[in-house]
Amino acid sequence: MEQRKQPKRKKQDKFTKSAKGQDCTVNYPGCMFQDGTTRFAHLRDNTTGYGTKEQNIHGAYACQHCENIYSGLKSIGLPAMAIELHFLLAIIKTQKIMIKQGILEL
Ligand SMILES: [Zn+2]
Repeated sequence: MEQRKQPKRKKQDKFTKSAKGQDCTVNYPGCMFQDGTTRFAHLRDNTTGYGTKEQNIHGAYACQHCENIYSGLKSIGLPAMAIELHFLLAIIKTQKIMIKQGILEL
């Protein structure tokens, strides 16, 4: 049986670890907001292929509900462009939190 190539995982760092205990910043309709499932969700990189993730500052704090919508596992009937725009705004919100907490320095 042929081995499937696993996507390369980036190591956890201060940016991805900072998602623990945070509120979701993505907030698609139905967002669980503070349900304890929030983790760091990377921006999808559509330029370099499946399994490739953006840098660890290019992501958002996302609850399981919102991550499932962003990754396409769940649909709530929003157009793809709205899903993408919502996520990009969440990255900005996430980076503002990181800056405020001194995790991301300018
Ligand atoms: Zn959410």
